[in-house]
Amino acid sequence: MDPVTARPRFATVWLGGCSGCHMSFLDLDERLLDLMARVDLVYSPFIDIKTFPEHVDIALVEGAIANDDHLRQIHLVRERSDTLVAFGDCAVTGNVTALRNPLKTAEVVLRHCYGPGDAPMPGLRGSTEVPPLLDKVRTIRGCVRVDVYLPGCPPPADVIYEVLSELIAGRTSGLHNRARLG
Ligand code: SF4
Repeated sequence: MDPVTARPRFATVWLGGCSGCHMSFLDLDERLLDLMARVDLVYSPFIDIKTFPEHVDIALVEGAIANDDHLRQIHLVRERSDTLVAFGDCAVTGNVTALRNPLKTAEVVLRHCYGPGDAPMPGLRGSTEVPPLLDKVRTIRGCVRVDVYLPGCPPPADVIYEVLSELIAGRTSGLHNRARLG
């Protein structure tokens, strides 16, 4: 809770997902105004803040854990958040992001993308251009504790609104039809 505004500090995080869950969040349309009047938005792809802040009350996390940077971020988010919501099927089960897992290693995946050759491949361990891919995509639950699971590909805006309204009000009793507690 922010000591000045007395509103919950709210964050949304985009990891290994297609951003469709965040697009569904934007489908709240005019209800965004209502929601934003009840929280302080302290971190999100929608605002230009580079570092996940301390003392977050509710963190909505889209996507699976597909690379080193996601892994670092999810541990930071967990450490700094009271309630971590796995937001959407990629966050909950791996879903689309984890479809590459049967290929077994990051190098095989990258060879499919870049073709054969000896040139260094961005995304391979040791490269510096982009964060290296993990050999296996992981669920959030496979890395840190999850408090609430909000499934759907993407979760419908109505459900996002209901679940967030409950969490902002400090309740979990009304979540059972819409989400699952961790
Ligand atoms: Fe995209 Fe669906 Fe994954 Fe959300 S759950 S990030 S909409 S693929």
